[in-house]
Amino acid sequence: LLLSDPPKSDELEVSIFGPGKGEAIAVHLGGGDWITVDSCRSQSKGTHSILDYFEAIGVNIEQQLKVVVGTHAHDDHIAGLGQLYESAKNAIFVCSAAAASEEFLVTAEADKSVAAGLRSSVRREYLRILDEVERRGRERSGFAPLKRAVESLPLWTRSSTPGRAAAEIVALSPSHVAVTRAQRDLATSALAAPNGTKRFANRDPNEFAVALWVSVGSQRILLGADLLSGPAGCGWQAVLANVSVSGKAGIFKVPHHGSITSHHDGVWAEMLEVNPVALIAPFRGGRKHLPSPADLARICALTNSGYVTASPERIAQRESTRRISASLGGVASNVRDPWGTPGHVRARKGKDDAPWHVEMFGPAMDLATALKSK
Ligand SMILES: [Zn+2]
Repeated sequence: LLLSDPPKSDELEVSIFGPGKGEAIAVHLGGGDWITVDSCRSQSKGTHSILDYFEAIGVNIEQQLKVVVGTHAHDDHIAGLGQLYESAKNAIFVCSAAAASEEFLVTAEADKSVAAGLRSSVRREYLRILDEVERRGRERSGFAPLKRAVESLPLWTRSSTPGRAAAEIVALSPSHVAVTRAQRDLATSALAAPNGTKRFANRDPNEFAVALWVSVGSQRILLGADLLSGPAGCGWQAVLANVSVSGKAGIFKVPHHGSITSHHDGVWAEMLEVNPVALIAPFRGGRKHLPSPADLARICALTNSGYVTASPERIAQRESTRRISASLGGVASNVRDPWGTPGHVRARKGKDDAPWHVEMFGPAMDLATALKSK
């Protein structure tokens, strides 16, 4: 199949793109309905992974994109999210009920001086999204464009019609404990620094991330965001303790780029089918790249159907490429350079008893290959 071949109406699809620095996911729920989770741009070209893909396969974003999810306020998941939501004219926006400082202070229309020290790229995307949310709410009565996700909350549902199965998207996280922790952080910061002299406390937003359980007919999809395994009362521990879901997922967006900090045996034992398709976008933004060789080995032991959108390692640029890039300036700094160009793994499934069919584009590879290249 070509990249530009759209899924059939009765086919499910999970596509994952990355890294810009992070990842973006598009899910076809059948019947032409799509949702997206997070957003990423090509670092070399600045292009938008999901918007470009939707254009290539002929998705009418205004009509067909139903839900835009921003799982958490980290810049490796949010680049271009505002632009995506503005294009999705009929979509609701889903964020975490446990707000990090950036989301909270945008909501409160906090003075710029208070906002000093916050991550400006994250703040900018939220400003854009919440402006658009407000506009939609004003212009269309009866339309509530914003949902704040918390454990077990149904975010979107579709009833079955001939040729189109019923579908439901439920938030698995954050837990109510996580929401309380987030509020306590913000309250403590606000009381300690009423005039914004003190930096706002910023707990790791991964703790508050929105993981999703997607049901279409008898099929289940688990999208793990960057949700951590804990701490107590939070993360995957809380999902397993608090949220009851039916069935098991045959496909899994592995949380937090395959990191051990998000691994929970219970998820693999209780929420996933045996040998599920596991999808990962690497994280190469920090000192420690994810997934690590140990992460790759662990996940390969759990499934033989794992895929990563690109090598977790920064691939050394050849000297000749580097020189050509330099001579072209910023215009074409991606000449034959796999770094900065997001890869794409696409999984599709037709009939209920058919296996997921996986395709790889650009620098994407299967996990066994990624492990061997270590
Ligand atoms: Zn991340």
